[in-house]
Amino acid sequence: MRVIPLLANTYLLDTLQGPLLVDAGMPQEYSRLLRYLGQTRPVALFLTHHHLDHVGGARRLWERWGLPIYAHPLDIPYISGVRRRPPFPPLPWLGDWLANSPRPVPQEALVPVEEGAEVLGWRVVHLPGHTPGQVGLLREGVLIAADALRVGRRGPFVPPPLVNHDTPQAWRTLGRIAALEVMTIYVGHGPPTTLEAVRALLRQRQAWLD
Ligand SMILES: [Zn+2]
Ligand SMILES: [Zn+2]
Repeated sequence: MRVIPLLANTYLLDTLQGPLLVDAGMPQEYSRLLRYLGQTRPVALFLTHHHLDHVGGARRLWERWGLPIYAHPLDIPYISGVRRRPPFPPLPWLGDWLANSPRPVPQEALVPVEEGAEVLGWRVVHLPGHTPGQVGLLREGVLIAADALRVGRRGPFVPPPLVNHDTPQAWRTLGRIAALEVMTIYVGHGPPTTLEAVRALLRQRQAWLD
């Protein structure tokens, strides 16, 4: 696995069918992403969720290589431009414009995948909360969780409510992650973390709630 450090981490996974790209950076990072890829040509793109720092280059990658783009049906309406993304930052016109700055990805490019589906040997895990259709990929003790959680200097945390679709749901998703058979968890923002650190965070929250 290779990590491509754009504004959000982008991952390049080795599969039997060829390299699988997970997320596509900001729209403005497209040239950087191509430079990082070099001679590597991904055979498919997996979008973890609809946010602009993950979907940015998707349309142009599809135009360049015609690769299939996997995403969850609950986030596809935002990715394909059928529904407008919630404004980010939550300001009237600037936030709406910024959040919706990635060019829509045509329906024909999108392959809907739900919980339990297989994408090039990786299992899809639905991790809703940050967005309704946030998804991760799981294989052999490794989870690509993207923005289901973040990792800072003091370990993992749930993204701030301001950027989530449903924060209580994001916490429930964290509980689900804690029950998965994983060792290492790779995220959209920050270094990888461990299952143990996620469990510690949940214990801390439980103690705070009690
Ligand atoms: Zn992100
Ligand atoms: Zn996000």
